Amino acid sequence: MKKISIVIPVYNEEEVLKISYTRIKEVMNTLEKYDYEIIWINDGSKDKTFDILQEIAKEDEKTKVLSFSRNFGHQAAVTAGIKYVTGDAIIIMDADLQDPPELLPEMLVLWEEGNEVIYGQRKSRKGESAFKLLTAKMFYNTLNALSDVDIPKDTGDFRLVDRKVIDVINSLPEHNKFLRGLFSWVGFKQKAYFYERQERQAGKTKYPFKKMWRLASDGIISFSTKPLKIVGGLGILTIILSIAILIYSLLSYLWHLNNLTAGWTSIMVAITLFSGVQLLSIWIISEYIARIYDETRNRPQYIIDKKINII
Ligand code: UDP
Ligand code: MG
Repeated sequence: MKKISIVIPVYNEEEVLKISYTRIKEVMNTLEKYDYEIIWINDGSKDKTFDILQEIAKEDEKTKVLSFSRNFGHQAAVTAGIKYVTGDAIIIMDADLQDPPELLPEMLVLWEEGNEVIYGQRKSRKGESAFKLLTAKMFYNTLNALSDVDIPKDTGDFRLVDRKVIDVINSLPEHNKFLRGLFSWVGFKQKAYFYERQERQAGKTKYPFKKMWRLASDGIISFSTKPLKIVGGLGILTIILSIAILIYSLLSYLWHLNNLTAGWTSIMVAITLFSGVQLLSIWIISEYIARIYDETRNRPQYIIDKKINII
């Protein structure tokens, strides 16, 4: 019997947890061909999330729980979850039912046909703010313009992945894994699965702008060195500009074209422009250095405090 592992990161999801659990159970019980497990990763929730999970897991041995010592973020939670899966096919989804579990049977058919990564691609997104839609669009466009692998548009973390691919991802040595990018980067037989993204069933988004920004910059920096090349380009551009200013000043001096004491404007323009470019460049470079520093410290990406139904 083939086994399916469902991986669900949860952070302060007390309102939606039970609804979510019931709907997943309903779907899985119709799939008699398969055995399954549900792995919930409690990402340092401050509400009753863990208590509810504990309650569910007591009655249901197919429910497994990993609980972090604090909030380590969604990517860390999924990274932890896929380390503990025992299934042949692994499904990653959100707790808020935006990615409906009712789609799993169709995704499983695609998997049985030999596809190894079946990624959910959103045809539409319901009930999300214009701001979220705009920033999401900007994110995918920038990422694809900058990065060296093609990361499919409108694709989040909702996917069904073959064991083989999960093993590869788990064996990658990097600590901070940008999973959306990695799942595309590893190759294998990929297949898009189009679906309508639903509204969040209860509770609020756990992705404030700060976390989205962090995810976006992690994605760009871990998949591209183009920003560094842009720094190089900016440097060359400013050098050309400064040579032009130099020639202009020299000619002005030689031919008395200009009242030189009135050169204040050009000096100010040059100083502010160049220091702006320098600061921007230093910022971009330091984003990389910060991540190199992060990786070399070799700290784990998350700390597990408690495990339930997991050996
Ligand atoms: N999540 C998490 N840790 C975090 C933020 C979010 O584990 O720090 C979980 C959250 O509980 C949910 C999933 O990640 O199951 C996606 O979050 P959310 O639905 O809030 O994001 P959105 O759909 O609004 O982008
Ligand atoms: Mg959501």
